[in-house]
Amino acid sequence: MKENEFFKEQLTAYGFEPSDAQLSSFDRYYEMLIEWNEKINLTTITEYKEVFVKHFLDSVSIIKAYDMSKVSSIIDVGTGAGFPGIPIKIMFPDIHVTLLDSLNKRLNFLNEVISELTLKDIYTVHGRAEDIAKETKHREMYDLCVSRAVANLSTLSELCIPFVKINGSFVSYKSEKATDEIKDADHAIKIMGGSFQKRIDFDLDGNNRTFIIIDKISCTPKKYPRKAGTPAKEPLR
Ligand code: SAM
Repeated sequence: MKENEFFKEQLTAYGFEPSDAQLSSFDRYYEMLIEWNEKINLTTITEYKEVFVKHFLDSVSIIKAYDMSKVSSIIDVGTGAGFPGIPIKIMFPDIHVTLLDSLNKRLNFLNEVISELTLKDIYTVHGRAEDIAKETKHREMYDLCVSRAVANLSTLSELCIPFVKINGSFVSYKSEKATDEIKDADHAIKIMGGSFQKRIDFDLDGNNRTFIIIDKISCTPKKYPRKAGTPAKEPLR
């Protein structure tokens, strides 16, 4: 059995039909992640199967929570080593993907991955979400904003909802302990023009995961996000 056969099976169970080229892209991405992780801090998870499940499969699990056929553009806020943005790009090659992070050295890694995997229509943006969300070329320009392991849901709502077009959505990747966060973020979601739609709990190969789906129903007031650092220091309550 090929080393990544289990991954192919899991993707197939999700409804994907992964090609050999897509599976090879994940293998090469894994190799680069491990290589670069020796120089810069990218991931604490390094064991082959664990990376494939907890990073790659987790990232593309969005297929269980959201109708990806209606998405043509995505921004991944606080993408780090490319999660969930790169795996989404590999499995949904037609979606325009923007990877945003405030740490340039991680973006250097991502630019190498993009080049090595010959991914098209995917761009890295260096900056704080608070600042980039004020730029007209990014504000309310995306069908979908995704974010994993960046901040609590109230802070994230302020960082992420401004990027989303009306009728688009923000999908937050969380662990199962999301109930209090959802309650605490209620006010922030509304102020930003969002509306909590649903949470979806699921099992990721024995690990509990939750997606929180927030729809964008009205424009975000111009004064948001507040200046860089404030959404994390003083989350809207
Ligand atoms: N999303 C990746 C994952 O799930 O593995 C990375 C998570 S890492 C814990 C958080 C990332 O968010 C870091 O790379 C950090 O630089 C970035 N980040 C935190 N606050 C940010 C902000 N306000 N604007 C842009 N990036 C931010």
